[in-house]
Amino acid sequence: MTNPIDSNLCLDPSITFNRMFVIHMYSLKKDLTFPENWFYPTLPQTEYKSWGYQKYLDFGVFEKNDKSLKMYMNTSGAPQYAFPNGNQDQLFQFLLMTDWTLLYDEMHDYGDISREDSIKVYKRTKRIIMTNELPLDPTPLDKCTHFIVNKIKEKSPSAYMENLVLNLMIGWIDVGTAHLDLSRMKEVPSLSVVDYLRTTNIAIELCIMTIIHSQGYNESLLFSDPSWKELTKSIAQIVYHLNDIVSWEVEKMQSGTCNAMSIKIHNGMTPQQAYLSIIQDIDNLVKYCLELEGELGIRFPNLNCLEKCIKSAYYCATGIFCWSLTSERYKTKDSIFKELVSTNEQVARSFGDL
Ligand SMILES: [Mg+2]
Repeated sequence: MTNPIDSNLCLDPSITFNRMFVIHMYSLKKDLTFPENWFYPTLPQTEYKSWGYQKYLDFGVFEKNDKSLKMYMNTSGAPQYAFPNGNQDQLFQFLLMTDWTLLYDEMHDYGDISREDSIKVYKRTKRIIMTNELPLDPTPLDKCTHFIVNKIKEKSPSAYMENLVLNLMIGWIDVGTAHLDLSRMKEVPSLSVVDYLRTTNIAIELCIMTIIHSQGYNESLLFSDPSWKELTKSIAQIVYHLNDIVSWEVEKMQSGTCNAMSIKIHNGMTPQQAYLSIIQDIDNLVKYCLELEGELGIRFPNLNCLEKCIKSAYYCATGIFCWSLTSERYKTKDSIFKELVSTNEQVARSFGDL
């Protein structure tokens, strides 16, 4: 029997195919396979969530019961998946960093901030990162940035590690305006431009190095090694591809897109072809990571923390995948991915709980 999706060439994302045939058609859990040792077997406690919650109320980032609270509750679970071997203090620090990037993303995605105002916010944020000084009239986001920068400085095992994380924060800020421009374009951008921007905008290199920083590792030779940089970059690309799959059904309703699924569909693929080609891209990136892991093993044969550092990067990828399947953030009533159907919570949770 031919697959009903094959016969539905979808040239325009607004043209949907017959959903009767595709509901529950795909299982992300089945189609996306990662090496077994990329998963950590248990999840930590979640006290860190209430610490973060209180901090954001203190900063005035949001008030009880506003829409940002909903965003917070959806995202504050991500650290326990992405940093499953972290203690509560480390998870708290990691939560602050992941939510810091999300707060800026939400400013673009759900606010009506102008390009000019966004540039002003970014400049202001960069000054705080560089000087560790709060402006005279600090906004809640300024306070948040300042607190994170202080945490990084306070916990750094060396100036090298401190600068590494702060530079990644600035690197992430630097692609913000370009990403905003892309997401507001009427035309569909090219995949190569989106790939370049999303690799940084997904903030995974920043997340991995925040996790490694909070564990006290201080290996300047390793972290400046080209193969290490390639490894963290490849993990970032795995995660942005995963995110493009899981967020596709939510994002295709929005105007403008930086989503690889949507772009591939716009360029003539069916949703099935787009999905399978991204799965293939992820498989290739996983293989590349394993090659890089081998190269790093040869280059750093006596480095005790090498395996732990590499594992931190892998857990980050699989953890965000598991979290994506449990989060309400990506669920729709009639998702083509069975784990993302909002009424089918149990399926997603069974995977996320490992
Ligand atoms: Mg997305």
